[in-house]
Amino acid sequence: MPVSEALERLLAAAKPFQAVQDIALIDARGQYLASAVRARVDVPAFDNAAVDGVALRYADLDEPGLTLPMHLRVAAGDPPATLMPGQVARIFTGAPVPAGADTVIMQEDCEIADGRVRLPGQETVHAGDNIRPAGQDARRDETVMERGERLTPQSVGLIASVGEARVTINAPRILVLTTGDELQPPEEMPLPGKIYDSNGPQLEQLLIQSGFPNVLREHLPDDPELIRNALTRYLTDPQQRPDVIISTGGVSVGEEDHLRAVLESHGKLDFWRLAIKPGKPFTFGEVEGLPFFGLPGNPSAVLVCYLMLVLPTLRRCCGQENVLPQPVSLPVKFSIGKAGKRQEYLRVRCTPGHQSLVLEKHPNQSSGMLSSAVWADGLAVVPVGEEVFPGDELDYFSFADLLNG
Ligand code: AMP
Ligand code: MG
Repeated sequence: MPVSEALERLLAAAKPFQAVQDIALIDARGQYLASAVRARVDVPAFDNAAVDGVALRYADLDEPGLTLPMHLRVAAGDPPATLMPGQVARIFTGAPVPAGADTVIMQEDCEIADGRVRLPGQETVHAGDNIRPAGQDARRDETVMERGERLTPQSVGLIASVGEARVTINAPRILVLTTGDELQPPEEMPLPGKIYDSNGPQLEQLLIQSGFPNVLREHLPDDPELIRNALTRYLTDPQQRPDVIISTGGVSVGEEDHLRAVLESHGKLDFWRLAIKPGKPFTFGEVEGLPFFGLPGNPSAVLVCYLMLVLPTLRRCCGQENVLPQPVSLPVKFSIGKAGKRQEYLRVRCTPGHQSLVLEKHPNQSSGMLSSAVWADGLAVVPVGEEVFPGDELDYFSFADLLNG
């Protein structure tokens, strides 16, 4: 199955997350809104001065070189005041423009001394100058953030500015199950025939970095009985029941791939034999109504499958419409001699070239390797059946863009 078709199916199967949480805005950065945010107030709430200077009526400037006493002084935080025709006010950035005034002249454009101001003529000033009108950033009751949008530092600032201290976010609990008798945790002394688990830590970090901090993680041996027990425990205990299950390893067709058999007795799995490299064994299904993603065991396949397949689906479940990452097309410095049968995601680095950025490929693209994924800053896509020559352009996704979304 081509990657594009797999993505279509994944997105079609994505159901909105039921798990939502009302949390303090300040704790929500990086997460996905479960409901839209509306402005409680106009922002700014009142017309205010954009500069330090003098507030007045534009019509009063008809006489050039006019010198007037300062009738009022309004600083940021002062209550709104009123000016009568012919009066001027000393005003500071952020202060409410007095009722009756319609223009603010920058202090650099007038002469202010001893409580008086010498004003410029109308030709150098425009009516309405230097006033930030009420509601220019947001209007009261207007939607400022849509459901599904991810909270960036800027959007947290915008939400605070409209008077919201709490937001409702998607809060799915995500269970990461690593499998394999060969694996041991990094705390232990290395044992013969064993390797350290890298998928668990990598996947947990990928989830956290892409806005899903609520991760449960457990390692399961290649033992159908123990796998079954663990799964039953997660599915029956309401304190632990996840909203999504992601596994690594154990879903291929090997004799020791028991996860598959156990999961199939709890739900329905689709084995697509995806035309993706790395990541062919990627599996999707439902386990007691929960979405299940079975990632391959190889660490770089976990990275690619998570970023290209799992993350867009999770984002759709959060209510996002545009979840497909947008590539940029960049020339490459390398060649790929043999046309592949699977769409290949190469670990590449984007470096400055003569005229534009160019892509360099790590010499070792083994799906079992992570050092090349650390060296790389993104993925370049080689379409099925294509050979690549230096100077050809490939679609490139930076890891930063993929994770930020
Ligand atoms: P599997 O799909 O279980 O056959 O695993 C494929 C390859 O990935 C094997 O070489 C495994 O040892 C390796 N692998 C599986 N799980 C992990 C893991 N959590 N960390 C590192 N390597 C793993
Ligand atoms: Mg295994």
